[in-house]
Amino acid sequence: MTTFEELGINPPIQRAILELGFENPMPVQEEVIPLMLNKKSDIIALAQTGTGKTAAYGLPLIQEAHPGTKLPRALVLCPTRELCLQIAGDLNDYARYIDDVKVLPVYGGSSIETQVMALKKGVQIIVATPGRLIDLIDRKAAKLSDVTRVILDEADEMLNMGFLDSINAILAQVPDGRNTLLFSATMPQEIVGISRRYMTNPLEVTIGNRNAGAENVKHLCYTVHAKDKYLVLKRIADFNPDIYGIVFCRTRKETQEIADKLIQDGYNADSLHGDLSQPMRDMVMQKFRIRNISLLVATDVAARGLDVNDLTHIINYNLPDDPEVYTHRSGRTGRAGKTGISIAIVNLKEKYLIKQIEKKIQKNFQHVAVPKGREICEKQLFYLIDKMEKVEIDHSEIDTYLPVIFKKLEWLDKEEVIKRFVSLQFNRFLDYYRQATDIKVPDDYGNNREEGSRRDSRRRDRDRGDRGDRSDRGDRSDRGDRSDRADRFERRDRSDRNSRDRGQERSGDYTRMFINAGKMDGFNPGSLIEMINSSTTGKKIGIGRIDLMKTFSFFEIESRYAQEITRLLKNKRFGDRKINIGIASERTENEKPEKSKTYSRHKR
Ligand code: AMP
Repeated sequence: MTTFEELGINPPIQRAILELGFENPMPVQEEVIPLMLNKKSDIIALAQTGTGKTAAYGLPLIQEAHPGTKLPRALVLCPTRELCLQIAGDLNDYARYIDDVKVLPVYGGSSIETQVMALKKGVQIIVATPGRLIDLIDRKAAKLSDVTRVILDEADEMLNMGFLDSINAILAQVPDGRNTLLFSATMPQEIVGISRRYMTNPLEVTIGNRNAGAENVKHLCYTVHAKDKYLVLKRIADFNPDIYGIVFCRTRKETQEIADKLIQDGYNADSLHGDLSQPMRDMVMQKFRIRNISLLVATDVAARGLDVNDLTHIINYNLPDDPEVYTHRSGRTGRAGKTGISIAIVNLKEKYLIKQIEKKIQKNFQHVAVPKGREICEKQLFYLIDKMEKVEIDHSEIDTYLPVIFKKLEWLDKEEVIKRFVSLQFNRFLDYYRQATDIKVPDDYGNNREEGSRRDSRRRDRDRGDRGDRSDRGDRSDRGDRSDRADRFERRDRSDRNSRDRGQERSGDYTRMFINAGKMDGFNPGSLIEMINSSTTGKKIGIGRIDLMKTFSFFEIESRYAQEITRLLKNKRFGDRKINIGIASERTENEKPEKSKTYSRHKR
């Protein structure tokens, strides 16, 4: 097996990347590194994100940076601010043991003055999004006259985002004779155009199949009635207890709606789309990266900046019209040698898209049946049992309690203990799915393949839409770091504990309140509790379920305090916002139809 040393990487960089866990080069690195270090040829590399392409060009860039020079020698262009920060971070990691190499990320949305100052001090490598770099060139802050190497990373994405003119303008500033490398997951005609215009006899390096979906991605298709899509999505999530994936929707509105529904139904989900502020998007992405969220509902544009390597699933809640977009989506799973699953949930009208995609990726979808309630229960049950088998026991913590527990359970034999333990975790879950009828699958004419009356389907929607008893759905305020169904039950327990912590067992005498602050305002359960605590010193007031929406929220509060809290919080401020608060059912009449639909679900 080739080593980094054999590829020509020098010892300080070897040391740095070994610390990052790079033991052996990945295929794209084996191809690109020697070409960059020895031949200086122009390269077109067809490589998806996750193949190790950043290090493929990044290691030679660092090795050949000219420490201490004032003007940049290398320029990396990429489509989004997130990718820009990530690439610059990676390059800095590779340069950990080399003095005086400065890498500057340059992107929109941050202070241009700071970037101008950094450029004045001198940098060797600029990593930039095209728009901001043009601004800096116009201000004469970025001077590209000494650049000898240009990397176009995720070139197809840059073109999708309309950066062609900016790229042309930037490359016009870089001296001829430069070495140009272009990395792209796909090879549309426009990329061929760029390579003809700006590259000299480029060598083509293909990692995986050209324009094909990643090799180790399995493509599954569920064909269902449009109205059942959401139910199918939930079943997919329940059938895959370890799911860590992105659910792609078409519009911002749909993205938010699906995320809201998932959250209400107790999943670790959140939304990512262009209506959210940049800090909000950053926060959601960070939560997803650290797996605080296991299902991210996103639009294609907003998800561009997100680079996560170990996604288990990509779910196409709606398929894109352009099969190439599907390639991008599905290419986000099955990375770095792992297997991944890309799922399409389609209705009859969308079925033709499957054929187009199959042609594009040169692979067939596997048409699969929606998991039945029983199958889901079984899967979850064995998942729990498996987890129990593998759980690490912290003897130092629990040993002191064990004698008492053993004594208390003395009268039960082993089998009985197991049965009770399993039932404890699963009764509600089993109840929920026991009631659920199977989801009907349409034939090619739109008729159900399984018989069922409309009444059945209405009842089923009602049953499953809410996962049974509302109080089982868990406290949204306490969306933990784990995704499985069993954990959602734990969250419910924690939610109850929260109420107790505030001095009150939940008796059911709670009133649902509306407040005009939501996620977009940075409002969270902590803010609510803080607000109530500071207005009601000394009192212990029970707070129940908290539902955070985009611009408003609901929460339950002990009924006897509902009026007092309304009076005390009314007209207080949260940030810039004057607080408006009231009992939810009263407010509902005055809300816009879209919103009232959401919260009429919660009315008692
Ligand atoms: P990229 O395609 O550049 O986004 O890289 C995908 C992931 O692979 C990143 O998390 C890198 O840190 C990691 N990576 C890159 N090269 C290697 C290597 N030679 N060995 C192990 N991991 C690597």
